[in-house]
Amino acid sequence: MPPARTRQPFHLGAHAVRTTNSAFSDPEICSALLRRIHAELNAPMRFMELCGTHTAVVYRDGLHSLLPETLTHISGPGCPVCVTHDREIAACLESAGKDGVITACFGDMMRIPGPGGMTLGKAGAAGAEVKVVYSPLDALRLAEAHPDRTVVFLGVGFETTAPATAATVLRAAAQGVDNFALFSMHKRIPPALEALLAEEAGGGIDAFLLPGHVSVVIGTAPYRFIAEKYGRPGVVGGFEPADILLALLCLIRMRRAGRAEVLNCYGRAVDAGGNARARALIDAVFEPADALWRGLGCIPRSGLVLRGEYERFDARARLVPDLPDVPENPACRCGDVLRGRIAPRNCPLFGKQCSPANPTGPCMVSTEGSCAAAFRYDA
Ligand code: SF4
Repeated sequence: MPPARTRQPFHLGAHAVRTTNSAFSDPEICSALLRRIHAELNAPMRFMELCGTHTAVVYRDGLHSLLPETLTHISGPGCPVCVTHDREIAACLESAGKDGVITACFGDMMRIPGPGGMTLGKAGAAGAEVKVVYSPLDALRLAEAHPDRTVVFLGVGFETTAPATAATVLRAAAQGVDNFALFSMHKRIPPALEALLAEEAGGGIDAFLLPGHVSVVIGTAPYRFIAEKYGRPGVVGGFEPADILLALLCLIRMRRAGRAEVLNCYGRAVDAGGNARARALIDAVFEPADALWRGLGCIPRSGLVLRGEYERFDARARLVPDLPDVPENPACRCGDVLRGRIAPRNCPLFGKQCSPANPTGPCMVSTEGSCAAAFRYDA
């Protein structure tokens, strides 16, 4: 395993942060924010983010190595691929093996290890028809092109991706493409946040960097409970280095002042009321249901399932009504990583049996997974 990277002095050189046209990655602005963070952090604090893109940026741009030693930044359950449960992966594999089925999924899904290390990619190599698509609409087009087959789209992701899936179901219904089917593994962030806070592990998290993409859709109101019920501050942050550093500085200031509020530091993209049209699409097609999360178990009303009027598109009901009861791989510590109980490199398999080229768990699969990000950028 590679040695841990030592933390760097917080002054950034001209090339320390990747160059873009955005002031939000300007090295001088980032350096100024880092100086404030170092100056104002007066006690050990543990912050968690719940967005795979935040995870990737924090590692890719080296922010984790520039923060004070006493500020622990944890990547929580914010990567859609990572939170997908073993039983859901097993059901996808079972569905893919059925006669007449074409499975359509995003590329990352092909590599998530299921029971016995089987993946959708390996299932494809063994004869199942599994296609990578770039949108749910691609899957619908596949269904139109193959009317004699059932095309199953594997829908993963949070409130960010659910509207596009919902719009595709509506189009399938309008066009009568009844051989299109959706395996919905879509999940909702606020119930997971509440589950984290309600359990003992949540007691060790001082504040939350809230996900910018999800917040574009749901706005800020659904997070209020973290301040009002659990006394924790939260800040919606964007995805450039300065966005993240500014959000962390706001969290430090609120924590120091004993204030618990939910603030929006990503105002150029997130409206406090969210995107009503996107939410209307979700509400038209889906309803909340209990869902399995890797590491967090079954969380009430944290998933999105098709409403009764769209049941004919429900791949799960049609092909795998009961999720297979498969045991979790005891060697993989992804569940502990997603709950912030261990850092990726504290998993005994990190960088040994488990690497992006040969992932043991989903956190090493996606570029948004914390193990993959730690391997790529912290080695
Ligand atoms: S290093 Fe691999 S096995 Fe360990 S927690 Fe990460 S993904 Fe899972």
